[in-house]
Amino acid sequence: MPSTETGGVPGRRTGRFPVVDPATGETFAEAPDQRPEELDGVVDRARRAWSGWRADPAARAAALCAAADAVAAAGDDLARLLTREQGKPLAESHAEVARTAARLRYFAGLTPRTRRIDDGRPVRSEVRWRALGPVAAIVPWNFPLQLAAAKFAPALAAGNTVVLKPSPYTPLATRLLGSVLAAVLPEDVLTVVTGREPLGARLASHPGIRHVTFTGSVPTGRAVAEAAAGSLARVTLELGGNDAAVLLDDVDVERVADRLFWAAFRNCGQVCMAVKRVYAPVRLHAQVVEALAERAKSVTVGPGLDPGTLLGPVNNAAQLARVEQVTARALADGGRAAAGGHRLDGPGRAGYFFAPTILTDVPPGSPVVTGEQFGPVLPVLPYRDVDEAVDAANGTGFGLGGSVWGTDLDRAEAVADRLDCGTAWINHHAELSLAQPFAGVKDSGVGVAGGPWGLYGNLRPFVVHRPEEVAG
Ligand code: NAD
Repeated sequence: MPSTETGGVPGRRTGRFPVVDPATGETFAEAPDQRPEELDGVVDRARRAWSGWRADPAARAAALCAAADAVAAAGDDLARLLTREQGKPLAESHAEVARTAARLRYFAGLTPRTRRIDDGRPVRSEVRWRALGPVAAIVPWNFPLQLAAAKFAPALAAGNTVVLKPSPYTPLATRLLGSVLAAVLPEDVLTVVTGREPLGARLASHPGIRHVTFTGSVPTGRAVAEAAAGSLARVTLELGGNDAAVLLDDVDVERVADRLFWAAFRNCGQVCMAVKRVYAPVRLHAQVVEALAERAKSVTVGPGLDPGTLLGPVNNAAQLARVEQVTARALADGGRAAAGGHRLDGPGRAGYFFAPTILTDVPPGSPVVTGEQFGPVLPVLPYRDVDEAVDAANGTGFGLGGSVWGTDLDRAEAVADRLDCGTAWINHHAELSLAQPFAGVKDSGVGVAGGPWGLYGNLRPFVVHRPEEVAG
């Protein structure tokens, strides 16, 4: 979703900005609307904190383990605040907090490997790894804590300091996380800044920043890359996706339907690597539509703090309008809603609720197929042969993930191998280990996050070249 001048949150700059509970549509808190000029002092303090932080890897690892413990200990408060501002069911917020702590612990245990180059010359060349300096981490509103940790945990483990900017839709849990971490990390090693645009634009272009690591939409990612070009800071971009799930003709529809449904609808479909299109063989198409529609109609939609809720609201009014718009366009293009297709309103529904929607008969050129709906709406498209399905899956500008579903695992893997994306799953989607690389291709991203690759993404090689003899 392209950003607006105020970062998507309407209103004049008054020193604080409102934070809305998506389950009610009402403002329930405010956050500091920091001015872009404040970044000069913040980045300068991050630069000064860097010399101490990078000096002692063992102290760093211990501090990051303490940080993981502190996050886990604050889990209840973090999870409730996250659900309040983001909308997701409380159990999912707890899972997000746990993942945040796990990420800190994982990177605390990683160290870069020094390598000796032996090419037969009487010289000892050694490749060592050095931190970059202050890193700017800019993240979206769908997984505020987890995505922030995906950025600051490897950056800190590598010996950098971090300035973290959450989305103005979800600043509160990140601010709380910042104060939890401030109690265990040295001063100014991690600073959370909140505010509406142009705060992010100014951070991305700040001359004191040496790496801009950004997660968000493709248009904002392009703007960030342009902003960072001025200072030639390194750029890592984790951008949007339009992942296809290709069902093969030997798939057991009933057996995979639950998993497929949740791969599309978890976090109300607001997942970069959610299943955003399903391709089913003509013979199975009606059965797949029915199985998914049945689940869409029966899932409990409600406020994230209600114990029975499985699907919360869309996070914000602009995103809800976008979901409504792409759905209306798909229906106008000849599509049919086998489930949902509309907002959920009425008593107790003042928030941003949208009925879980399964679309069929949608033409392949409709924006819900070609673009990123980022909401609880899923088109199911028929295909005749596997080549056609693979071409369609690869046929958008995105290349984040994809999946292939079937009983013959070797055949499914051979099809998965043809997907033009960063991660391909078989009979699964969006399952990630902390130890694996995560990288989109095409418009879905630049650079690599996750695992040791994420650590090296925050380091630069430093080569020491030393002859074997004094006069050599
Ligand atoms: P967004 O691009 O609107 O905003 C992302 C962040 O950038 C926010 O913090 C925002 O305030 C900030 N921002 C806005 N304008 C800016 C500018 N000019 N310069 C610098 N920063 C600016 O994205 P969103 O709507 O918050 O999030 C949804 C998008 O994020 C979707 O496209 C989704 O696919 C993507 N996403 C990608 C991944 C991934 O890992 N690939 C993960 C999660 C979400």
